[in-house]
Amino acid sequence: MAKQSGGKKSRAICSFCGRAGSQTDTLIEGPENVYICPECVELCHNIIKQNRRQAGTPRTSIEETPKPREIKEYLDQYVIGQENAKKYLSVAVHNHYKRLLHSDIGDSDVEIDKSNVMLIGPTGCGKTLLARTLAAKLDVPFAICDATTVTEAGYVGEDVENFLLRLLQAADYDIEAAQRGIVYIDEIDKIGKTSQNVSITRDVSGEGVQQALLKMLEGTTANIPPQGGRKHPEQSYIQLDTSEILFICGGTFVGLENIIKKRLGRKMIGFDSELSGQATEADNTDLSRLLEQVIPEDVIEFGMIPEMVGRLPVIASLAALDEDALVDIMTKPKNALVRQYKRFFEMEEAELEFTDEGLLALATKALKRDTGARALRSITEEIMVDLMYYLPEETKPAKYTITKDIVEGKANLMAAKQARKESA
Ligand code: ADP
Repeated sequence: MAKQSGGKKSRAICSFCGRAGSQTDTLIEGPENVYICPECVELCHNIIKQNRRQAGTPRTSIEETPKPREIKEYLDQYVIGQENAKKYLSVAVHNHYKRLLHSDIGDSDVEIDKSNVMLIGPTGCGKTLLARTLAAKLDVPFAICDATTVTEAGYVGEDVENFLLRLLQAADYDIEAAQRGIVYIDEIDKIGKTSQNVSITRDVSGEGVQQALLKMLEGTTANIPPQGGRKHPEQSYIQLDTSEILFICGGTFVGLENIIKKRLGRKMIGFDSELSGQATEADNTDLSRLLEQVIPEDVIEFGMIPEMVGRLPVIASLAALDEDALVDIMTKPKNALVRQYKRFFEMEEAELEFTDEGLLALATKALKRDTGARALRSITEEIMVDLMYYLPEETKPAKYTITKDIVEGKANLMAAKQARKESA
């Protein structure tokens, strides 16, 4: 088989559609003067996929649904803390795929509802990471989308169908695989109505988007415009059934704790409880403890429409990360930052070490940025960049130690280099 172009071969035509070689960029040659053009290859590919679907050939599905404990143990390798969310997610995901398995078998005297999940927690505490790690464990296509990019039909912005397009792209346009994938929708709280008491005419767009999302979460056959792809004259959109897609929605829900506090306060009037009364200076632990007590009604009060909350029956809260958790994040997960840097240095025949105080200082610095674990990478990179810059030219073998003073900028990186001289 060969790609043909120019000369005598440009007179060749596609044996399937009759298109001349000059009308297409590529013509693939088979034996005995048989040619096929890219358009026909694509068409054949679609026909094969459609036939397979109709014939019910084994899908790219989870034949053996992993048990909740297995899922959690896998999550533990990558995500620090957030035990509550991990447990809820593991059970929800197990049930979701179990439900799919049973719908295949046709065991349908009891219909099990979809268990889409809502994750509530501050920025950078691991919401996206949880969803992404889950998808990796289950080996299903995964897409991350931002709810704030979509608007109601007619306004400037994307349609909600674009979320599905992204999933389809992640699945390499394998519709069957995409239909069993996971979509993570970030910033779901930003499409809520701004407040319960605001006139509903003021902020209709948020509600409109929620309505559009609703159908998708519940399960519908969505029409996806094959954006960027070639237009198919006979089919202007791709149909995707969303009933088996697992949706995980995440949001920070700033202010939700006050709603919870108010509700709990109301119940606790007459008791000597810290939770009653006005919002006081709450530290992170208090906040997390409050969020743990979230119920769907609080989320509705926050501004999500009840139908939407109903489609997200599993609500799990994530705690803000403290310094110790940040140190663990840097060192413990399989792909932890410190491990990655150490590996880099190994490749350069050098040894890298972080002192305990150095790690803690990094965590303290990251905490000040208020973006959870997100700041860790940039802060570490800022510190390491000089070292990495000169590393390939340094004398080997070498050892470097990152101390608290280096992190705090009280000592320059010469201090780390010093250690090299000692050990060399
Ligand atoms: P968000 O909660 O805003 O979705 P992310 O999950 O995107 O936050 O977290 C950003 C990054 O911070 C992740 O890619 C990961 O490296 C790190 N991180 C956040 N939380 C955790 C955690 N609990 N365990 C391990 N790493 C985490």
